[in-house]
Amino acid sequence: MLNFLGFGSAFNTDLGNTSAYIKSNTSLVLIDCGSTVFSKLHSLGLLDGVSDIYVIITHTHSDHIGSLSDLIFYSQYILNQRPTLFFPNKDLLNTILRCMGVKSEFYNIIDTGKALIENEDLKLEISFFASSHVDTIPSYGLLLKIEGRTIFYSGDSNEINGFILKSLEEGTIDYLYHDTSGIDYDGNPHLSLEKLESYIKPELRHKVYCMHVDSHFDREKAKSLGFNVVECIDRL
Ligand SMILES: [Zn+2]
Ligand SMILES: [Zn+2]
Repeated sequence: MLNFLGFGSAFNTDLGNTSAYIKSNTSLVLIDCGSTVFSKLHSLGLLDGVSDIYVIITHTHSDHIGSLSDLIFYSQYILNQRPTLFFPNKDLLNTILRCMGVKSEFYNIIDTGKALIENEDLKLEISFFASSHVDTIPSYGLLLKIEGRTIFYSGDSNEINGFILKSLEEGTIDYLYHDTSGIDYDGNPHLSLEKLESYIKPELRHKVYCMHVDSHFDREKAKSLGFNVVECIDRL
């Protein structure tokens, strides 16, 4: 359902920073824009011919927004466009971007908890859910509705919200993309595969995709438990 530019954790750079995208004709929707993301977008040519750029941001760790200013500058100076950013905490994002030298007129921010992208290419409903990640910055998961499908994208999170789990069990969420780490320890800001296994019944695991995986993550073990593992695009 979602395409990925990368699916690694912050330090698992071989897999690129986790970032999903939806491309439809001349519209591009990106979820997060971490440090490795702009160069991947550029090298794949994903920005070529794009006239509407939307970036949904889960939180402000650099593996999620590290190259956002590059994308905004490129949109401004090369594509002559103003991307639309979706993030519930406008002041925080404005401050970070200002410190990177990005003028506020180079982008729009939509900071409502629910938002809609609708144009001739696509219709996407977005709802933000506060997630459990770190106590220094706000973090969000995303409920996305597109083409009759409902997807929950965890962002970085060390637990699964009860409402989301119930919705998956009841079938009102079709796919769950979840932050999954290979190791666990006290205070882990990510969800270990072991915990994911304890949350999700075997018969529902085919609906679940592991992402944001660290170097300890055992892909074959996750697959043998019935989960999917995200793969990323290397060419269009
Ligand atoms: Zn994070
Ligand atoms: Zn992260």
